[in-house]
Amino acid sequence: MFSQFALHERLLKALAELNFVEPTPVQAAAIPLALEGRDLRVIAQTGSGKTAAFVLPLLNRLIGDAQPRVSIRALILLPTRELAQQTLKEVERFAQFTFVKSGLITGGEDFKVQAALLRKVPDILIATPGRLIEHLNAGHLDLKEVEVLVLDEADRMLDMGFAEDMQRLVEECANRRQTLLFSATTGGSGLREMVARVLREPQHLMLNAVSDLSENTRQQIVTADDPAHKEQLVHWLLENETYRKAIVFTNTRVQADWLYGHLVAAGQKAFVLHGEKDQKDRKLAIDRLKQGGTKVLVATDVAARGLDVEGLDLVINFDMPRSGDEYVHRVGRTGRAGAEGLAVSLICHNDWNLMSSIERYLKQRFERRVIQELKGSYQGPKNLKASGKAAGTKKKKTDGKKGDKKPAAKAAPKRKPSGLVSQDGLAPLKRRTPPAE
Ligand code: AMP
Repeated sequence: MFSQFALHERLLKALAELNFVEPTPVQAAAIPLALEGRDLRVIAQTGSGKTAAFVLPLLNRLIGDAQPRVSIRALILLPTRELAQQTLKEVERFAQFTFVKSGLITGGEDFKVQAALLRKVPDILIATPGRLIEHLNAGHLDLKEVEVLVLDEADRMLDMGFAEDMQRLVEECANRRQTLLFSATTGGSGLREMVARVLREPQHLMLNAVSDLSENTRQQIVTADDPAHKEQLVHWLLENETYRKAIVFTNTRVQADWLYGHLVAAGQKAFVLHGEKDQKDRKLAIDRLKQGGTKVLVATDVAARGLDVEGLDLVINFDMPRSGDEYVHRVGRTGRAGAEGLAVSLICHNDWNLMSSIERYLKQRFERRVIQELKGSYQGPKNLKASGKAAGTKKKKTDGKKGDKKPAAKAAPKRKPSGLVSQDGLAPLKRRTPPAE
């Protein structure tokens, strides 16, 4: 129960109004420590309730110590506009019975309008780093009185190249009393350095990512010969599976655009979301998916951060994500609240070992599935090591003697054309060459 926390009655009233009854595990772990004023380093995924885990203690501090509004008292930095907008909504919902005011500063919005917002000095500023630095450089901003700094999805901000901007903004908040750093993954050396530099005697909370995978989500792999074959498989799955909403993940923006183009050309109603889409397109894609106007989103991980879409029950990994945490982050979106979910990863020769290491990380074996209509020639490695990875094939010695046979040409895949045709109606789609990553 939320009443177990020493939260201000106005916050408890908002929680009751919002039907928040039971704290999620991340909330149960983080809220008491954050209320004590501790610095926290929390690993938790989108959908875990992490936003409330930092917003409630933050609001509690601001209400408890009401001051005339002369300075920004809390800064929440996060990687994407969508996440920023969702976070603002969450803050406003919790703050509805208080006088705490919040403001949003992200790229893709009018600079002058934002400057006017900053002149009014919100208590809480929610911002993406790049645009906030521009305002700092323009002299629109003073962060010297910030008491609480939150770095949400810090791993993603670093992945997106915001390291320098983050560092500068952290330094601007020199008088802060509390820093809360959230990430979806354990991150790399960049994140470790940031944790060491930014947090003071932090409490580390690791909300077991693996347990985030719902038992209601079936996890399968389908082997594929090449990206063009993968594209046919995606199309088949979208046509033949039963689902309400689907996300197809690619590792790169170029692949996302390429796949989206082909799906649309083949008659699939879809949207694409990646870091280089402008604000309007991104809003449109997310709204359409949420409202059910489209069922299919092709997205990169960066773009899909913070997306909380109800009814998402099919995730297709066109590319295998690069880490186990990222896999959990993608697939953890399905099978929520008892619903059934399906996750299908498409595995080419060069995805195999990554897939196998993710299986080991998750301590589970993905179901091997064959789609007969599109069976290719690659069915996984011939020999496996004990780890599940492909065993190297020994090269045969050739001594160059006359009469040595050349190795037989590899048999062509038996796959039938799927019936998908290109826009010109001639070539099967599989012949198109995907872009290099
Ligand atoms: P987040 O992981 O912060 O993006 O939260 C995911 C969704 O769960 C949001 O829509 C929250 O409003 C909702 N949520 C978070 N905590 C709770 C809770 N304790 N009870 C009910 N809903 C919650």
